[in-house]
Amino acid sequence: MIFHKKTGYWIKNKFRPGIYIQHIYFFQIVIIQLLLWGCASPPPPVSVIQKAEIPVSVFIAGYSVQNRPILCIRAGSGEEIILLIASIHGDEIAGTPLAYSLLNYFRNNPHLLEGRTVFFLPLANPDGVAAYSRFNRRNVDLNRNFPSANRQDKKRSGDFPSSEPETRTIMQLIRTYRPARIISIHEPMNCIDYDGPGESLAAFISDYCYLPVKKIGAMPGSLGSYAGAELGIPVITMELPEEATVMDTEILWQLYGKALLASVLYPQKPEHSFVRTEMNEKNARGKIPEAK
Ligand SMILES: [Zn+2]
Repeated sequence: MIFHKKTGYWIKNKFRPGIYIQHIYFFQIVIIQLLLWGCASPPPPVSVIQKAEIPVSVFIAGYSVQNRPILCIRAGSGEEIILLIASIHGDEIAGTPLAYSLLNYFRNNPHLLEGRTVFFLPLANPDGVAAYSRFNRRNVDLNRNFPSANRQDKKRSGDFPSSEPETRTIMQLIRTYRPARIISIHEPMNCIDYDGPGESLAAFISDYCYLPVKKIGAMPGSLGSYAGAELGIPVITMELPEEATVMDTEILWQLYGKALLASVLYPQKPEHSFVRTEMNEKNARGKIPEAK
């Protein structure tokens, strides 16, 4: 790990041959020891622990302007529905690996999904992500295109409310599954924002990461205005810091995984299975926000 002075984060080493040589050396020692051990006595029996499986299915929730499928992953079969949306702005992509990390975590800890179903929308704006653009292919900001009363008639808001297929895909998911809460991952405001009745949920999530709760205000035509303020669903906008896009997935998970897990388990507290690593502590020290 090296300390990235500009961002204050610990990031992965650049390629340094010396490290690989050290690793090869280390593995050689392990292999030699295993060989010696194998000669001396037979290996102990290995017990295989069978984990309960969670039902996971993938379906195409809709198509983008450029006809890219918008995939939705359904995990669990419980009554409480949680919708998790990532990369609705195509240049704020850190939420996508986080969503997959959370799905993976549930596969390894299936009991946590008892009574719950999570719908993951890891790439809500696939055309925007492909072009590394905030907007969709028609240059519309999808998070200004929802049919809320405060939507403004601007070029970036689309020709009319919910004019964009990506917006309609999210609306269709909300209408069909009626989520108890919606989590949408963005950058770069470095805070937890909420709309609708989401204040206590926001505070709960904030306790598990270093993002303070900050009420930014309902943006015109946003998901928060539509689903939060108007449909009455708690909507959390998890605003990661600017650096999140270039962070390694593992670091992202260590910094924000527990908060995401908390957003699904709410009001149940996440188990203390996340051990605070030295790296996480260093990151936290580098990024403790000012008082809320
Ligand atoms: Zn955003």
